[in-house]
Amino acid sequence: MFDGRHALITGGGSGIGAATARALAGHGAKLSLLGRRADHLDAIASETGGHGFPCDVTDRAAVEAAFIAARAANGPIHFLIVNAGIGDSAPFDRTQREAWDRIIAVNLTAAFDCAQFGLGDLLAGQDTRLIFIASVAGLRGAAFAAPYAASKHGVVGLSGSLAKEFAKSSMTVNAVCPGFTDTAIVDQSAARISTVSKRSETEAREALAAFSPQGRIIDPDEVAAAICALCTPASRSINGIALPIDGGATA
Ligand code: NDP
Repeated sequence: MFDGRHALITGGGSGIGAATARALAGHGAKLSLLGRRADHLDAIASETGGHGFPCDVTDRAAVEAAFIAARAANGPIHFLIVNAGIGDSAPFDRTQREAWDRIIAVNLTAAFDCAQFGLGDLLAGQDTRLIFIASVAGLRGAAFAAPYAASKHGVVGLSGSLAKEFAKSSMTVNAVCPGFTDTAIVDQSAARISTVSKRSETEAREALAAFSPQGRIIDPDEVAAAICALCTPASRSINGIALPIDGGATA
């Protein structure tokens, strides 16, 4: 389905990014995977036949160099999946300015940089896709996670704006908004809840699962499947949406 198509995925070495890499490679896409940990990128690259380009997405020059190297290896980018992100939680009055700066830099400013570096290829190609991994926290406020929710609201705004600005092109721009998904981010959240509330990590995970009306934590493969669906030519009219994958939490 995606033979010869080049997908660049930030944060492609773990979690939702790795699941997306496996899903797109399973349909024939060529992959470029960005992230800081070279060993994680190498593992997913060797599993999927892709290439890893280690970089910190908050370093604009390093991101530009990684995009150039990815293009040299795999040709023009057809699908840009802006997925790298970090989460944190704390009461607002104890949230350090440093935490705000760090989360905005990774989740929002780096999304701006990646979109700029991918734009030329995406506008020149046919049926190209710019997909941001936002969050349900980009659609509603999230207690104890103000910087994260603010960054993801920004990503949703960036996505919708680019969808409108480039609607006449062959590129679509969409945001995917998962609820709690079974990755390292949820592991860290469960550990924090367990420490603060003296509950076991199993109980903490149950509390996170309860955010979904379906009462379950989402599998990264489910998010990857939605991303794959958005990449198909048949999805060319789906533009500018913020797609919740949350069991109905934001319904
Ligand atoms: P992971 O922690 O597994 O993935 C995050 C990825 O981002 C990692 O591969 C990490 O790689 C990369 N990353 C983080 N910081 C940087 C950086 N400075 N430079 C380059 N890469 C970076 O968690 P998820 O798969 O869950 O997260 C993927 C996305 O999904 C994030 O944007 C997250 O906000 C979003 N999301 C997750 C939800 C969840 O419940 N899990 C719910 C809603 C949205 P490395 O550390 O090697 O740099």
